[in-house]
Amino acid sequence: MSGLTAIRGQPRAVLQLRRAISSGKLAGAYLFTGPPGVGKATTALALAAALNCERADGDACGTCSACTRIASGNHPDVLRLAPEGAARMIAIDPIRELAARMGYPPHEGRARVVVLDDAERLGIAAANAFLKTLEEPPARTFFVLVSAAPDALLVTIRSRCQRIRFAPLPRDEVAAIVEAGGASPANARLAAALAGGSAARAAELADGEALAARQLRVAALLIAATSGTLGGAVTAATRAVAAADDLGATLELFAHRLRDAAALAAGVPTPDRDAGMAASGDEPDLAARLAERGPRALARGARATLAARRALTAMANPQLTLERLLVELRAEQP
Ligand SMILES: [Zn+2]
Repeated sequence: MSGLTAIRGQPRAVLQLRRAISSGKLAGAYLFTGPPGVGKATTALALAAALNCERADGDACGTCSACTRIASGNHPDVLRLAPEGAARMIAIDPIRELAARMGYPPHEGRARVVVLDDAERLGIAAANAFLKTLEEPPARTFFVLVSAAPDALLVTIRSRCQRIRFAPLPRDEVAAIVEAGGASPANARLAAALAGGSAARAAELADGEALAARQLRVAALLIAATSGTLGGAVTAATRAVAAADDLGATLELFAHRLRDAAALAAGVPTPDRDAGMAASGDEPDLAARLAERGPRALARGARATLAARRALTAMANPQLTLERLLVELRAEQP
């Protein structure tokens, strides 16, 4: 399976493209929008393969010379531009080079596809130069602008593109994609539950070592939130956790654990509980202490944790935010 057939979880976007290919009504420029990590760039390359494949009609075979060169980034008619450098911008020089190449027909005579990753990262000068290329579209050339923040694009560029929307991926698809990438089934399910429909985000979250370290920090927070001793446990846990560079992900996992415990205490089955519990390796006492809280208090704790996570996004002091959260959770003590 390859090409458009292999795109997971985006049936509407794929159908739109298939119809356009089969009716010969492809737009000269597309804008693929949607959250990061849901398959926009992958679909752009699948479209390029479908238009250049030497065997399949209207899709890609995945094995011919054109398909394999596109997959490895070595096809002369499939060009990909992405933000570069510390500023992560698409600069004007590569856009000028692109414009110069547009003066010639595609090397292999079929379709030339130009993919702009994170197109909203075009600088002003680069955007204006690119607009000129869009206004005088070269023959047999298709542009695909990929963006999770399309509102940041020049209106004049946006208005020349046909928009195709990509949805957040269903959780099962995310888990399957991450598992296919080598993660264990338990880690893949847990990461998918936390990733908000983004396979890229889930792959980051499922990274074995990072996840194990995060699980340890979550266990420290859980113990500090539930243990009988006062003071010292909270300070030690918050100091260790506040220093972590993935504090946001840690708090998301912590909230997930509290929601899981709430569901468990309420007797509601949850598909992710096994993954959460199995991956955490908690002491059995901890599960019992959590269950004693009762489902309502645990659900409130999960909400308080997500509020703390938002406070951190707004640049709150990590250690103080964590201490406040743990004091709040300990006050729920039965
Ligand atoms: Zn092929």
